Amino acid sequence: MAKKKETKAQTKTKQEEKKEVEKNVCNDKKCPFHGNLSLRGRTFAGELTRKRGKTVKVEWLRYKYYPKYERYTKVMSGVFAYLPECLHDQVQIGDRVKITECRPLSKTKHFVVVGKVKKKE
Ligand SMILES: [Zn+2]
Repeated sequence: MAKKKETKAQTKTKQEEKKEVEKNVCNDKKCPFHGNLSLRGRTFAGELTRKRGKTVKVEWLRYKYYPKYERYTKVMSGVFAYLPECLHDQVQIGDRVKITECRPLSKTKHFVVVGKVKKKE
């Protein structure tokens, strides 16, 4: 096990926090890059449609097959995902982000945002 850091001792000013964001370092335990959250399972890319605190909703379009009509129909799939501290300022609503499955982080969250997908323009 890694050394457990005491959060009470780590009182930092906002300026110091901003510097850490620029360096892409965070003290988030649930961060897949700097914490000890292991990733496994499926990966999706979708549009970020809701953002509140450390929770985001990512939605993407998929085509569902209807055997009766032998046709496909558009269906929106969506999951709630955890947004790590180091990505908090980098992604906004409307961005295309990549999410990967992880252990259940809460009742509704078992995905974590791992990065931003750059649009080809
Ligand atoms: Zn991080």
